[in-house]
Amino acid sequence: MTDAFLPERALAAVLTTQPLDRTLDYRVPEGGVRVGAFVAVPLGPRKVLGVVWGPGQGDYDRAKIRAISAVLDVPVMPPVMRDFVERVADYTMTPLPAVLRLATRAPGLGEPPGKRHVLRLTDARPDRMTDARTRVIAFLEEHEGMGFAPGELAGLVGVTSSVLKGLEGQGVLVREAAPRDAPFLPLDPSRPGKDLSGDQRRAAAQLREAVRGRSYGTTLLKGVTGSGKTEVYLEAVAECLAQGRQALVLLPEIALTGEFIARVQARFGQEPAEWHSGVTQAGRRRVWLGVAEGRAQLVVGARSALFLPFTDLGLVIVDEEHDPSYKQEDGVLYSARDMAVLRASLSGAQVVLASATPSLESWANADAGKYARIDLTERFGAAVLPEMRALDLRIDPLERESWISEPLASAVRQRVEAGEQSLLFLNRRGYAPLTMCRACGHQIGCDQCDARMVEHRFLGRLMCHQCGAQKPIPSECPNCGNPDHLAALGPGVERLAEEVARRFPEARTAVLSSDMTMSARALKARIEEIAGGAADIVIGTQMVAKGHNFPLLTLVGVIDADLGLQGGELRAAERTFQLIRQVAGRAGRAEKPGLALIQTHQPEHPVIRAILGGDEEAFWRAEAAQRQAAGAPPYGRMAGIIVSGPEERETFELARALAARAGMLTQAGAQLFGPAPAPIARIRGRTRVRLLVKAAKGLALQPVLARWVEGVVPRANYRIQIDIDPQSF
Ligand code: ADP
Ligand code: ZN
Repeated sequence: MTDAFLPERALAAVLTTQPLDRTLDYRVPEGGVRVGAFVAVPLGPRKVLGVVWGPGQGDYDRAKIRAISAVLDVPVMPPVMRDFVERVADYTMTPLPAVLRLATRAPGLGEPPGKRHVLRLTDARPDRMTDARTRVIAFLEEHEGMGFAPGELAGLVGVTSSVLKGLEGQGVLVREAAPRDAPFLPLDPSRPGKDLSGDQRRAAAQLREAVRGRSYGTTLLKGVTGSGKTEVYLEAVAECLAQGRQALVLLPEIALTGEFIARVQARFGQEPAEWHSGVTQAGRRRVWLGVAEGRAQLVVGARSALFLPFTDLGLVIVDEEHDPSYKQEDGVLYSARDMAVLRASLSGAQVVLASATPSLESWANADAGKYARIDLTERFGAAVLPEMRALDLRIDPLERESWISEPLASAVRQRVEAGEQSLLFLNRRGYAPLTMCRACGHQIGCDQCDARMVEHRFLGRLMCHQCGAQKPIPSECPNCGNPDHLAALGPGVERLAEEVARRFPEARTAVLSSDMTMSARALKARIEEIAGGAADIVIGTQMVAKGHNFPLLTLVGVIDADLGLQGGELRAAERTFQLIRQVAGRAGRAEKPGLALIQTHQPEHPVIRAILGGDEEAFWRAEAAQRQAAGAPPYGRMAGIIVSGPEERETFELARALAARAGMLTQAGAQLFGPAPAPIARIRGRTRVRLLVKAAKGLALQPVLARWVEGVVPRANYRIQIDIDPQSF
């Protein structure tokens, strides 16, 4: 990638964020333009954002070529960043503009500060209230003293811009120049960190040394929960900052963890820049520019922070690297963990993948010597790993309509009496996973999807967890009309909460579930309250497995460890192991020892045995052997091809048309499986059919797939989407 300069009147190839499959040529304006510059260009009647991608091709009518409208006053996109965008597009088989969009998610780029303005609430109130007006005012009252750009405000509250204009006309809102961006205060890497233990010190020294090399490398930092992985990798961050390079820490569920920001501040004296869905548009713009101008030294963010325009990235930390949420499942289907490694290799940066339960991919890369590996095997200080015990439900069977066995209940009771916290983990949202008529056997399903409706009793509705469709809980069976035999079957967290309330009426309980109708901010506050002791018994879905420390928690009860082992996916064992270990690791993080009780019908299952502290390396090796035998990742390459469309028959036909060309794949050394209904077989009224392509590790799969799908052109409203390295197989 070059950083060339294009003189006035030359042709520039501009990549826009519009869904086109190629760059467009424009004439370079007065003063010339650098390759990589951000520009505004005319496209039809509109002006759109673009980046000068190289010299123009000039392979069509020069007279029709229009000029670049403006060169924006923001830093040029550096060559490595352009390279990264191209490599991600190639790897994920996504058109370049879609990837460029990920890299330009900073609203109002290039607008001079003087021209931007925000709306603020005054003391005046409108003569007439409407629902929309009430919402605007309530929102601004809630965010007291804050100004919002009009477009942002309209979007956040869900009103049209004319509602805002009306309020402005009546003096309820005033227009003010947007404040200048707050500066990024310098972080001080020379402040002393915590006194490290021997193991921690050795780990930190190894990472510091790697960062000092100023070249690419990846280290798997495998450490049990509470071993101080965070303390250790913050040392690597300190080294990177001391080198004057930028650092990025990726976290899953960052919007919910204020704790981490506080730790960074305690370590380096100032807060890092934050990048996630909870950041306002103005905040995003500030961070994006701060990163591009090299003023923001450290960013803590969600997976999309990987696409920020770092000028000199020296270190990327991927914390909880095994977390499935690092894979983006719509739009550009990319794995932030894998793309972090790519990005670092282009930038001469180090990557640290931190986890107590690494992905099999990373484990295998370390095993093969591609990644360095550091192990932290003990919890820091007096904290010891929780004792883990299986509760065999064949010996202590559950009572009818009960999901907590007697031994688990008595352990909870002891904690409540001692003033300690318990966590009951059940990875099922809602009240009951199934509503069935006991008279005719009818199960209530979603009208749009191939999924059962889940009862949410708090909301008084049935919900589809695939598409979000809702309907009221019917008073009689929609099939046979019988009013008396509709029954909620199986437990969800809400139902578990009901049982807890019945059995422990004196205890304070809290439910933490990812579908709670709370804003990220309110949820974060609630989590902090609970960590501070506001509940005796916490009932949660997988959301509680991540990130946050609950210092008072000494007991974890896993309600149904067998849940994830059904279904027969190759990855099921790995996922179950990671999730239950992670949840169990929440117990006993402070001085008091923890206990994890795991309810299961199959305590002899290899996964359950590994969870309970069997030979972990042996477990990974057995998993690896299975994958190897199946030619599955990480030992083979895989792609999922999702064919979707409104009509089931035609969707399958389209998939079969692809399958008919399988000869091409076989010739290239790849194998085709399917078509079969996709893991989510129907969603929002669209049928989804999946094909799987497997190939040896050495094969460059993308060009083969590109030629293969090229030959089949879907009709309008039908789609073929390729998912390289799918999550489920
Ligand atoms: P992990 O990321 O491996 O789960 P953390 O880095 O969060 O572990 O450490 C767990 C807890 O132990 C935290 O509260 C942390 O502050 C504390 N801790 C870890 N190492 C040290 C140390 N060397 N000195 C003081 N406290 C430590
Ligand atoms: Zn649905």
